[in-house]
Amino acid sequence: MNRLNILVVGGCGYIGTHMIKALIASGHRPITLDNLSTGHRDLLPGGDFIEGAIENTALLDKIFSSRRIDVVMHFAAFIEVGESVQDPLKYYGNNFSGTANLLNAMIRHDIERFVFSSSAAVYGEPQYTPIDESHPLNPTSPYGESKLWVEKMLTACERAHGLRSIALRYFNAAGADESGEIGEQHDPESHLIPLVLEVARGTRDHIKIFGVDYPTPDGTCIRDYIHVNDLVSAHLAAIDALLDGAGSKAYNLGNSQGISVREIIETAQHVSGRPIPVVEDLRRPGDPAVLVAASAKIKNDLNWQPRFESIEEIVRSAWKWHAKT
Ligand code: UDP
Repeated sequence: MNRLNILVVGGCGYIGTHMIKALIASGHRPITLDNLSTGHRDLLPGGDFIEGAIENTALLDKIFSSRRIDVVMHFAAFIEVGESVQDPLKYYGNNFSGTANLLNAMIRHDIERFVFSSSAAVYGEPQYTPIDESHPLNPTSPYGESKLWVEKMLTACERAHGLRSIALRYFNAAGADESGEIGEQHDPESHLIPLVLEVARGTRDHIKIFGVDYPTPDGTCIRDYIHVNDLVSAHLAAIDALLDGAGSKAYNLGNSQGISVREIIETAQHVSGRPIPVVEDLRRPGDPAVLVAASAKIKNDLNWQPRFESIEEIVRSAWKWHAKT
C-alpha cells in the first residue's frame, strides 16, 4: 500500500476527526492544520498537529517545504447558512479567499491533489428531486456561493496549473464513529440530530420543528442523512482516484433516502427510549422542502457504497456519542 502524507485542513472538526481516524487505520500519515476556531484539539485521534490558519501564507510555505505532502484535504469552513446571510464576508473571507490562499501555496510547491468538502448548498432551491450533479447551480446563500466559487476555482486551477481535485457535495452529515469516542459537537449547536438527542439526554427542554406546513407527507422538511463514516469512505475513494490520475470532478454525497424532521424525532425517541417533547414553530428562512441526493455518479465512478443505510443505525451511533458527552 502507498503510505501517503496527507495534510488535513480542519482535522479537528466533526468530519475531520473521523477522517483522521480512517486515514491512520488505512496506514497513511495525516498532518492536521486547524486554527481551533470551531475544532476540538482533544478529539483529534492522532497524527501530527499544527495550530494555524489557511490565511497564514508563511505557515503554509513552511509546511509544504518541510515535508512532501501527497494530498491536501480541506474540511475547514464555516457552515451556518443563516449566519452567512447575516455576516457574508466571514464566509467569502474564510471559505473562499482562505481556500484561494491554500491553493496558491499548493501550486507554489507543486502539490497537485486536493479533496474538497463542498455542499448540497451549491444547488440552491431544488428544481427536481433527487438532485443529480447536472442540476442547475443557483446557491441561495453566501455559504453556498462560497462553496460553488471554490469549485469553479478548482476547475480553473486544473486547466491553468494541473492541480487535480475532487469536490464532494455533502448532503446532511450525521452520526458518529462506532467507538463512541468522537462525534458531532458544534457550539452553538444548530443541527437537527444533535439537538434532538440533547432533548433525549435532558439537556434541552424540547425540539422546535421549523415548519409543519411543507408540501411533504407529514408537513415537515425532508433531508438526506449520510453517516459520517460513509462520508469518510468516499474521501478515501477520492484519494485513490486522484492517485490513479483522475481529473477535477464534483460528486454528490448522500444516502439517496429522504427522511422527514418528524421521522428523525420518532427514530431518536425509539433509539433512546426517552420522550422528546416537540414545539411546532415557523419555517426557517431558506429551507427547501426536500433535499435528496442522486448518488449514482460517485457509486459508478469511485465504486463507493454507503454502509449505514438506515436512519435508525445513524441515529443510534449518534446517541452512543451524545449519551456519554
Ligand atoms: N430543523 C428543525 N429544528 C431544529 C433544527 C433543524 O426542525 O432545531 C430542521 C431544519 O429546518 C431542516 C432539518 O431540520 O429541515 C435539518 O436541518 P439541519 O440544520 O440539521 O441541516 P441543514 O439541512 O440545514 O443542512
